[in-house]
Amino acid sequence: MLTFNEFFKSGDIVNLSEQAVYDEIKAFIDLQEVEFCQCDKCLFDIACVVLNAIPSLYSSSVVDRNYPSADFSVEYEHLRKLAKEEIPGAIARVKTRLHH
Ligand SMILES: [Zn+2]
Repeated sequence: MLTFNEFFKSGDIVNLSEQAVYDEIKAFIDLQEVEFCQCDKCLFDIACVVLNAIPSLYSSSVVDRNYPSADFSVEYEHLRKLAKEEIPGAIARVKTRLHH
């Protein structure tokens, strides 16, 4: 049995929205349709704005992540769609207050 601190630091809790957002930002960059700063700080800011705008999808199971059920896959694809929709607005927002 782990202590509470050990449990918390063991870190097998993953927010799959983060992966969905990273994947969609990568896809958006590859399209090269919009010019925007792609430095680390701006990309992190954009990722945070998008993550704050979409629901989280937490998973505590490596098995679920590697062998997702149909429901889980549908939920993940829905998140990717939401992330994709939020990216242009997030880029516009980050452009107005650059941190780099
Ligand atoms: Zn930048």
